[in-house]
Amino acid sequence: MNEQLFRAIEARTDDLVALTADLIRFPTVNPPGDAYTPCAEFVGERMRRSGFETRFIRGEGTPGDSDRYPRTNVVARREGRSPGPTVHFNSHIDVVEAGEGWTVDPFAGTVRDGKVFGRGACDMKGGLAASIVAVEAFLEVHPDYPGAIEVSGTVDEESGGFGGVAYLAGLGLFSKPRVDHVIIPEPLNKDRICLGHRGVWWAEIETKGTIAHGSMPFLGDSAVRHMGAVLSAFEEELFPALDLKQTRTPVVPEGARRSTMNINSIHGGQTEDYYPGLPAPNVPDSCRIVIDRRFLLEEDIQNVKGEVLSILERLKSDRPRFDYAVRDLMEVLPLMTERDAPVAAAVAAGIREVLGKEPDYVVSPGTYDQKHIARIGHLHDCVAYGPGILDLAHTPNEWVGIADMVESAKVMAMSLDVLLRGVGR
Ligand SMILES: [Zn+2]
Repeated sequence: MNEQLFRAIEARTDDLVALTADLIRFPTVNPPGDAYTPCAEFVGERMRRSGFETRFIRGEGTPGDSDRYPRTNVVARREGRSPGPTVHFNSHIDVVEAGEGWTVDPFAGTVRDGKVFGRGACDMKGGLAASIVAVEAFLEVHPDYPGAIEVSGTVDEESGGFGGVAYLAGLGLFSKPRVDHVIIPEPLNKDRICLGHRGVWWAEIETKGTIAHGSMPFLGDSAVRHMGAVLSAFEEELFPALDLKQTRTPVVPEGARRSTMNINSIHGGQTEDYYPGLPAPNVPDSCRIVIDRRFLLEEDIQNVKGEVLSILERLKSDRPRFDYAVRDLMEVLPLMTERDAPVAAAVAAGIREVLGKEPDYVVSPGTYDQKHIARIGHLHDCVAYGPGILDLAHTPNEWVGIADMVESAKVMAMSLDVLLRGVGR
């Protein structure tokens, strides 16, 4: 039976390539969230032709949603002949901006040297196309399958997923009993199963000062110098401490197995808009940084925040006139699906069969839409699995390999077989 399924996918190779290129041609750049509606309609039309019922759901009132840039999602469902579980393939249709450095048109869907090029080729229109072709091949070989299959194309993953998976999860579309197993075809490489991700805490830290004439700084109080004290305390204490924290979870790349923090930005004093003139002399009364702290499954978010706050509190008691404010911007708790969860086991069986090797289990350094499925939908049988090389995501000349897409489509089709028909279980 597997042979038949695999042949059905191989026979669709040209279709898979064309579908990937077609999807790339919708410039679904986020922000602002361009071309979401035509791209969702294109996916919906394709699924309708394969016998799916399709729904278009706009994330009304979510960040960025407007009549000009509606947050249009598509959810397609096809019932089987008899009752059984539902397997859902969820892909985001948004891409990040193309940026500089391309040698091909980022929205042309160029096919060359066994690869499809374009913004979103690997992250993750190639994965969406592979899942659609996997489903269609499965339907041809097993028209009498039990349960149900769903395919969704959702928006705004790159900006947090609030108008996409979070919104749909809020409507109950990612919960039992409607859905049992979810595969997210993010580009984790065809032989790797991504079980979850690290946690995130974004915050803005502001130091405060007193404005005065720059020729007499002793009359004021420099917020930038106070921030300098914060940064040097981070250098001396916080970064070395984070570097010592190691997770037992298989985060890739290996550098992300430790706790990390990025300082995303720093702004202090007057604006830099004085060009082409000269700046006026002022003692800065405010300085702000944004921190991006990524934490491990073993860490507690209150401790993560406490490490930063205790440094700020100590500066407040030790350093004259030091004052600060912290504003939380976003927090996501780390999560990890168990390796023996049904969906992970099904994908693993597919990898063994198709690639003849054991899967690598990984955890992502950054978050993706699995967080909403777990936290809002309370559905934990979810993994990310898809073609494409993660390191190529968001880079110029992004591509996805055609052979990789074919192989991962086979793995996805076999996963369906295991989860719906119990084959190989
Ligand atoms: Zn992605």
